[in-house]
Amino acid sequence: MQTDPQMTPIKALQKYFGYSAFRHRQEEIIQHILDKKDVLTLMPTGGGKSLCYQLPAVLLDGLTIVISPLIALMKDQVDALNVNGIPAAFINSSQSTQEHIDISTRLKNNQIKLLYLAPERLFGKDSKLIDFLKTLPVSLIAIDEAHCISHWGHDFRPEYLMLSGFKLEFPNVPVIALTATADKLTKKDILEKLNLRNPAVFVSSFNRENITYKVTPKRDSFNQLLDFLEERKEDSGIIYCLSRKSTESLAADLKEEGFLAEPYHAGLDNALKARTQEAFLRDEVRIIVATIAFGMGINKSNVRYVVHVDLPKNIEGYYQETGRAGRDGLPSNALLLYSPGDAIKLKQFAMVEDNPEQSRIMLKKLDDMVKYCQLHACRRQFLLKYFDEDFPPNCGSCDFCLTDFKRFDATLIAQKALSAVSRLKERFGSTYVIDFLRGSKSEKIWEEHKQLKTYGIGADISKPEWQRYLRELTGQGYLQVTEDMYPILKLTEKSEGVLKGLEKVELVETEVIEERQPAAALPFEASLFAELRNLRADIARLENVPPYIILSDVSLQEMATYFPQTLDELRLISGFGDVKLARYGREFLLPLKTYAEKNGLVSKIKQKSTQRERKPAKERAATRSSDTAKESFTLYRAGKPVSEIAALRGLAATTIEGHLSFYIYKGDMDVTELVKSEKIPSIKDVVLSYGAEKLSPIKEVLGDDFTYGEIKAVVAWMRKNGEI
Ligand code: ADP
Ligand code: ZN
Repeated sequence: MQTDPQMTPIKALQKYFGYSAFRHRQEEIIQHILDKKDVLTLMPTGGGKSLCYQLPAVLLDGLTIVISPLIALMKDQVDALNVNGIPAAFINSSQSTQEHIDISTRLKNNQIKLLYLAPERLFGKDSKLIDFLKTLPVSLIAIDEAHCISHWGHDFRPEYLMLSGFKLEFPNVPVIALTATADKLTKKDILEKLNLRNPAVFVSSFNRENITYKVTPKRDSFNQLLDFLEERKEDSGIIYCLSRKSTESLAADLKEEGFLAEPYHAGLDNALKARTQEAFLRDEVRIIVATIAFGMGINKSNVRYVVHVDLPKNIEGYYQETGRAGRDGLPSNALLLYSPGDAIKLKQFAMVEDNPEQSRIMLKKLDDMVKYCQLHACRRQFLLKYFDEDFPPNCGSCDFCLTDFKRFDATLIAQKALSAVSRLKERFGSTYVIDFLRGSKSEKIWEEHKQLKTYGIGADISKPEWQRYLRELTGQGYLQVTEDMYPILKLTEKSEGVLKGLEKVELVETEVIEERQPAAALPFEASLFAELRNLRADIARLENVPPYIILSDVSLQEMATYFPQTLDELRLISGFGDVKLARYGREFLLPLKTYAEKNGLVSKIKQKSTQRERKPAKERAATRSSDTAKESFTLYRAGKPVSEIAALRGLAATTIEGHLSFYIYKGDMDVTELVKSEKIPSIKDVVLSYGAEKLSPIKEVLGDDFTYGEIKAVVAWMRKNGEI
């Protein structure tokens, strides 16, 4: 492959990868590499890290060496590059000597642009490889999964430590290190250990916009799961369980219900594991029921959902596992079935013998996980805050933000609960408080407590209901829970107003009134999509690669939405670079043409091209601290109305309004930009009397003359002013 000096990064993006715009900060990162600078890139899973070195690799003369920890990953990447017409190869222990000789010959003849290697290959006992590589014109070194070099990370690999010498062997070659792990210690470790030279660090928002988070109480998990899977029969998904045994029994039960499900855990035979994984990648197995042993190195882009039927041990693991859904950017789901019993079970596991410090950390992490499950607020905001990132409080695509709850005046209930805590001198946990409220005859209740007036005043409310109310009161800040081994309920500053009858409290009724759907993906034709999927599967089988390597689900959905009718039109579909167009274009046009003819449809590709216009540079340079909100804000500042921004970004208008409210809260935007000043006092009044916890009651009182957007804006503004 000849490099073309006229080729710009954006042209190469279209030609080789078939994409029309850069994501996150890809363009800046690529420019740094072309300027021969070292770079560290932190981007979430599915963010598009690979492109950051693959694109420079095609633009630069010479060879790009990619260090990657897993054979499966290497193979996937090499297949994907080759399908795009970019010559790439890997060297690992699964190959024969002859294959190694062939690759060296191609390397010597400059016939390979990217070479993938495991780190131990470089400095292993036969260190000839590094000497050989030094004879080649190496133009870039990429170190993927760079967190593997850190003890702090979750998958430390000692062989990664060998890479510290790598930069010294190639002092003038730029190095890019990439990872999806965001924590500060790991980042520091990577920078120190890799000996990077004055590196530029690029951190993207870790928000996974296309994943909808949902937590639901675990009751009858199998039937809950069946309900969830019923609508997703054709989709690929991962179901995580805690124990090996339950992966096997659950997979067997699902199979009996007709699902293509297989178990996966570390105790299974290696060959079987490899077969299961391969079948999953090829869409032949739809569901993997796994322990956390499954996932690392799974590049499959069309995993549509991840379910946790048991509680994960910490947020880090949960976020990583849910992150395996929707790498292709299409709407995907993360569902967690939560039971407090799981938390108690895990608590026992979290105790590390003879290591109180370690136990304390593990328990704290578990506690955060439980808090997430019990959360009565935006889950996305909670997750991102956990990773030190600001996010507006209404993401529009988690179960909380998508639900309109029916609320009722629970001032009396709150008063009962708070006075019980107060009478018990803030020295007991929720179980005791509830037993006390319900007037339990148990001996566990102290005799002197049984004499108190508050004893038994909550007997009309069931135990689980009390548990929920106490959680919600905690969530709303009327109570707090200590972080002890045996957590104790305490009053807060807000308690007094309620106890004195000065403040009204609202709680959620058990029944959920309405769960809205997140913003839909493209309105594609399902039957055409199915047909295209079959064609893709046929081609993939012939080429002996997983289907998503041929084309992503995004490409298929776009085709099934816009019905391109010529090769030139097909070029406008995401993922069709020059080589894919030449190889598969005609084949895909056949069903597209037939479908259009049969249904009297014409190409709608023009509608797409307007959406694909490149965004202005300023907008693309959005940084961390919620790229997504910033993007909406920038568009708003560029004079676009909310409805247009929503359409442009494929998000719900309420989401955009949430984004803008964040900027009102931050003081970058005045409330009067979104709300007419004469409307503000009425909204304020209602917010002051009903609280801002949930918007639907406010909206109900205000009526149709006020929009959710206006209410959100005023709430944000009042928060900023400290009025609520
Ligand atoms: P990561 O390694 O960060 O998890 P990948 O590099 O696998 O993510 O990229 C995820 C998906 O996004 C891939 O299918 C990739 O081809 C696609 N992708 C990357 N950059 C772009 C872009 N600029 N436009 C459209 N799709 C992109
Ligand atoms: Zn949310």
